[in-house]
Amino acid sequence: MAAYEYVDHAYDVVVVGAGGAGLRATLGMAEQGLKTACITKVFPTRSHTVAAQGGIAASLQNMGPDHWQWHMYDTVKGSDWLGDTDAMEYLAREAPKAVYELEHYGVPFSRTEEGKIYQRPFGGHTTEFGEGPPVQRTCAAADRTGHAILHTLYGQSLKNKAEFYIEYFATDLIMSEDGRCTGVIAWKLDDGTIHRFRAKMVVLATGGYGRAYFSATSAHTCTGDGGGMVARAGLPLQDMEFVQFHPTGIYGSGCLITEGARGEGGYLTNSEGERFMERYAPTYKDLASRDVVSRCMTIEIREGRGVGPNKDHIHLHLDHLPPETLALRLPGISESARIFAGVDLTKEPIPVLPTVHYNMGGIPTNYYGEVLTKGPDGGDQIVPGLMAVGEAGCASVHGANRLGSNSLIDLVVFGRAAAIRAREVVDPKTAVPELDLASCEKSMTRFDHLRNANGAKPTAELRLDMQRAMQSDAAVFRTEETLQDGCRKMAEIRKEFADVKVSDRSLIWNSDLMETLELDNLMPNALATVVGAEARKESRGAHAREDYAERDDTNWRKHTLAWVADGGEVTLDYRSVVLDPLTTQDEGGIDLKKIAPKARVY
Ligand SMILES: Cc1cc2nc3c(=O)[nH]c(=O)nc-3n(C[C@H](O)[C@H](O)[C@H](O)COP(=O)(O)OP(=O)(O)OC[C@H]3O[C@@H](n4cnc5c(N)ncnc54)[C@H](O)[C@@H]3O)c2cc1C
Repeated sequence: MAAYEYVDHAYDVVVVGAGGAGLRATLGMAEQGLKTACITKVFPTRSHTVAAQGGIAASLQNMGPDHWQWHMYDTVKGSDWLGDTDAMEYLAREAPKAVYELEHYGVPFSRTEEGKIYQRPFGGHTTEFGEGPPVQRTCAAADRTGHAILHTLYGQSLKNKAEFYIEYFATDLIMSEDGRCTGVIAWKLDDGTIHRFRAKMVVLATGGYGRAYFSATSAHTCTGDGGGMVARAGLPLQDMEFVQFHPTGIYGSGCLITEGARGEGGYLTNSEGERFMERYAPTYKDLASRDVVSRCMTIEIREGRGVGPNKDHIHLHLDHLPPETLALRLPGISESARIFAGVDLTKEPIPVLPTVHYNMGGIPTNYYGEVLTKGPDGGDQIVPGLMAVGEAGCASVHGANRLGSNSLIDLVVFGRAAAIRAREVVDPKTAVPELDLASCEKSMTRFDHLRNANGAKPTAELRLDMQRAMQSDAAVFRTEETLQDGCRKMAEIRKEFADVKVSDRSLIWNSDLMETLELDNLMPNALATVVGAEARKESRGAHAREDYAERDDTNWRKHTLAWVADGGEVTLDYRSVVLDPLTTQDEGGIDLKKIAPKARVY
């Protein structure tokens, strides 16, 4: 192995990722005086959270009656009864507090006439336990909510003396022999040095892995690096078969048009000009949950009612809305529609198509963000020294399908929860764990091997093969045949990775090597997705099987756990869904009868 220049650091807490989740965790840790570092491969405010448009859900009641229990009910139903009840209660109850904190930190929310935080309707968010009209629950800063949150949290983190390591690529967790996480290794992209961070707690906040697919709304940086690191550490990923397709990616580019567009009154039509969602979801129509709308659009296209010369997409109309509303509430997407679809949305519909958008699955955690694995007794076991929050984690509040605007609130509620928990488990007075040299060496051997990889197939070609396989075989609708095809193709592609070719051997701004490391992370995520999907013989949330069209609570109301070996072999096991809420009805909690499983109609 080549000689590398090492730089060593020691912290109470190291957070990997500076999106909404990573920054909220970093800020919370730093506020309570823990010595905290935040490592990020891109500048903090370029994290994918910056692209979040529509808003953040919390039952503030600024626009009409609302209640945390209604938010919880909608989340449970949205998850298609796969979410963990304790985590979903925690999310809905803590949401208003977390949003007011953001307001006090300085997030410039849009305002109502009375000066309160403006809230808009979003899909699947209702009143009266799904019996009442849609609710205005999604707090927004125009259609740039993620941008506003990220800039505010970064400023606050700096103010609280968190230390940032910007444009450092974390390659692996440092794990001790007894299964404890004791730090993380990172490659400094601009000078090629290798940094070994020892820490009492590592928090993974590395975001989703949308880029395992060909067409995704997420940034090119969303490569599931946290999932890759966890898989290499011999730990499981959870519920990876649940991949959300957003109904309104711009046809062609995949760039997102927020659900807020439908929240503000936008609607979808087919080639006959029909508002077809009225047929499928008579009550909530275009504001049914995302998985439902994506499936209906796919059916319309399949049955020959798609728009355009190839009848392969759908129209989203905003042209009936007053131009002032569009300018005030949706300025960003007016621009996106012009640039990416060439349409003036005050006059014409936008061509749209369901596009990969969000990963419900991720690194399993409890509702404090502590990473879980399966213990010897078959129950949950906490992995000491390791937390995961945000899209990289799976608490699980989104279960089989996430509601729009429930991710941004997940980032801040669980980023904050991780910090609350750290106060109890991280003692600033104890010593930072020693450097585990064996673990570091293992990681550097992989790094050095990839840096010098001299096979036949360039990274970009292998990545494209993977993205094509995932796009065609683990799509909106799935069958045994497509999924088996997907499993076979992904296994082959993983094997071919042994023959990858990296052309640039340098250590400075080597995007070839970085993309290869990212591909090495994407692959276990993709494998867990397609293998988990093949195994799950039911339809639930975003996992729609044509050969098993019904949800099967008797056999499948359980979380999938997937261990992905370096060679690509996937071992599956299952974990019980947490059915107990945090508080009983006597303690002010929800009436469990209200959230008992039933058919999911909108
Ligand atoms: C276009 C778009 C619009 C959306 N709109 C909404 C919305 O309106 N409301 C809503 O609730 N949700 C929305 N979502 C979903 C939501 O924005 C994301 O789920 C969320 O922002 C993810 O945040 P995160 O903090 O987990 O990760 P990200 O914001 O993706 O950040 C990941 C961080 O990890 C770092 N990182 C990753 N790998 C490494 C590594 N190897 N080494 C070092 N650093 C690393 C990156 O540098 C980055 O800082 C939207 C998503 C998209 C794509």
